[in-house]
Amino acid sequence: MSPFKQKEKTAYKTQVARNANMAKFQAAYIFPEIARRRDAHLQKYPDAQVISLGHGDTTEPIPEVITSAMEKRSQALSTLEGYSGYGPAQGEKPLRAAIASTFYDNLGIEEDDIFVSDGAKCDISRLQLVFGSSVTMAVQSPSYPAYVQSSVVMGQTAQYQKDVEKFGNIEYMTCTPENGFFPDLRKVARTDTIFFCSPNNPTGSAATREQLTQLVQFAKDNGSIIVYDSAYAMYMSDDNPRSIFEIPGAKEVAIETSSFSKYAGFTGVRLGWTVVPKQLLFSDGFPVAKDFNRIVCTCFSGASNIAQAGGLACLSPEGIKAMHDVISFYKENAGILAYTFESLGFKVYGGKNAPYVWIHFPGRSSWDVFNEILEKIHVVTIPGIGFGPGGEGFIRVSAFGHRRNVLEASERFKQLYK
Ligand code: PLP
Repeated sequence: MSPFKQKEKTAYKTQVARNANMAKFQAAYIFPEIARRRDAHLQKYPDAQVISLGHGDTTEPIPEVITSAMEKRSQALSTLEGYSGYGPAQGEKPLRAAIASTFYDNLGIEEDDIFVSDGAKCDISRLQLVFGSSVTMAVQSPSYPAYVQSSVVMGQTAQYQKDVEKFGNIEYMTCTPENGFFPDLRKVARTDTIFFCSPNNPTGSAATREQLTQLVQFAKDNGSIIVYDSAYAMYMSDDNPRSIFEIPGAKEVAIETSSFSKYAGFTGVRLGWTVVPKQLLFSDGFPVAKDFNRIVCTCFSGASNIAQAGGLACLSPEGIKAMHDVISFYKENAGILAYTFESLGFKVYGGKNAPYVWIHFPGRSSWDVFNEILEKIHVVTIPGIGFGPGGEGFIRVSAFGHRRNVLEASERFKQLYK
């Protein structure tokens, strides 16, 4: 018997039962799984020039107007006058005010409705803590996996259904080219919460004013709460709403979460925010914002003060211009990738309102397409099924990348699918 086997046999076990909700996860979280496959590929082909257009991580440097503000704040921490420790868990006042005036001007959102965070993903989980385990939820399919996964962790869901790659009792609102990537709400069952992302990751589609008006009305008719994720709003090219609060009445039914990650390259710095309007009430009349505040104070001690200095610089006139420049660069990448696939005869979606290109491979398994692309041309993408059952038959190609890599990947796609 190998020493490893012996060790396994005698392994000490605690008396703590595994959280049954964790045991519901059958498939690995998609992004670590993609990284695992990329690493395995690199082991198999150590000399391959692998290009990553998978995980939506930013690649371009943070504009200097922003890093210099962080540097200044960091240096100040070394002085008696400039030192600060814990700040308000909800975020520093000037940043909350700047977020309100930059993104919600004239929408009736006030500084104290804004909670600054260490990123939208973290706030999605904190919101689930507010809702608890007995609520039901609806989600676009496909969509950013954190909504479903945080719901599973909370115990809002029944067992994983392998045959359809989804969890029981989550209402999956299928969004495909056939319905213009907006669910047919007449077919959607009532749920307590509705997670809705626009522009959507992965499809890149942005809901119109009319569609969002329908969504708000749907929530109102059902007494539901919308959690609206606007993490890509600054990428929008058309004049559809940037915020759910552009829709009249939304403050009574919606929360909005957003992030500096994809605007300013803050995926590593970590800074986001969530808007919980004071008008949003639970069925007993208690303000949702008060419970969110309690969760924020319990689970979080505020975003890094250095990151918040960066956030404030992002919202200065020079910072806003610098963010738009970076966003334009990524959108040009998206245009290159979309054009490449279109000229190869594929149906291509997204790219105009988001840094993602969503490509249809009708009748094919998205994992098969992912494997084919990785194996033959050493490019990492994301299989659509990783975003929910509505993503099967598609792959997502991210526009986050250095230009030379995007151009090189485009050449390789042409070789593969010509
Ligand atoms: N929401 C969406 C739709 C995303 O695509 C992402 C990241 O990819 C996030 C939220 C996470 O943002 P953050 O880095 O602020 O946690």
